[in-house]
Amino acid sequence: MSVRFPYIWPIEMKTPEPLLRRLHVSSVETGSRLGCGATRSFLRRLRLHSLVVFDFDDTCVDTAPLYTRARAQCREIVAADGVDPAQWNALQQKCDAALIPTLKFGPAQFPTACVEAYEALAKSPKPSVSKKLYATASAVLTNPPPVKAGVDKALAELSRDHIMVLLTKGNSEVQERLVRASGLGGRFDKVVMVGDKNPEAFREICRWAHVAPERAWSVGNSLPSDINPAMRAGLSTVHFKDGADVWTYEQRETKPLPGGRYSSTDRMAKVPAIIHKGLG
Ligand SMILES: [Mg+2]
Repeated sequence: MSVRFPYIWPIEMKTPEPLLRRLHVSSVETGSRLGCGATRSFLRRLRLHSLVVFDFDDTCVDTAPLYTRARAQCREIVAADGVDPAQWNALQQKCDAALIPTLKFGPAQFPTACVEAYEALAKSPKPSVSKKLYATASAVLTNPPPVKAGVDKALAELSRDHIMVLLTKGNSEVQERLVRASGLGGRFDKVVMVGDKNPEAFREICRWAHVAPERAWSVGNSLPSDINPAMRAGLSTVHFKDGADVWTYEQRETKPLPGGRYSSTDRMAKVPAIIHKGLG
């Protein structure tokens, strides 16, 4: 016999809208397209009293190595035109960070930074080289990053006992496509996309889950995005450091906030045990 909960729907449908608007998620439909069921999420929230907020790029999937490879290809292109590849590399990363306020991690940001750095360094920049650089750098977005080893297993284990939220920063069009390609959306009760990971975003997710920050964890590879703002909001943290590339922009803070609940590991397989132990 199927059981229906008609009284749940109005509550559930009212709850996410203001939250999603504040967090700049494009629509409620985003979550269901990515495999997160609203009813499942609500019923789980009645039963579960702890929350895990997971980062996506370079925690669940290997994103930075794709960019590192694309930069290596671009260095060859600029070197062939007489530009010092090391100088170009350093300037490209500066340009990339400087473009964040205007291009907001959108698909044009990385290729534009590659072209800007070349045009600033070349004695007489050639439009054909700029075009080639833009095309080479844009290709990074067409290859979905591979899922890291052990991630799916760890998420499956955690999702049995905790409300799961995937919190990812960046351009919602790009991120939605990458999350869908990863096939990991179904491991989460909600996927939240934000322009910036600040303490308020973590507090808002705790409010949505009806879980106190003391019972919530943030897992991610970036101190300034996943760890320190989460600790400022009162969450416990697991800093995932597997030795893979970390985007230069995510190295702008190098120390965890003193006094916060901080742990770190280089193996995804250890994350569920750290969280279970921490919750006692
Ligand atoms: Mg990350």
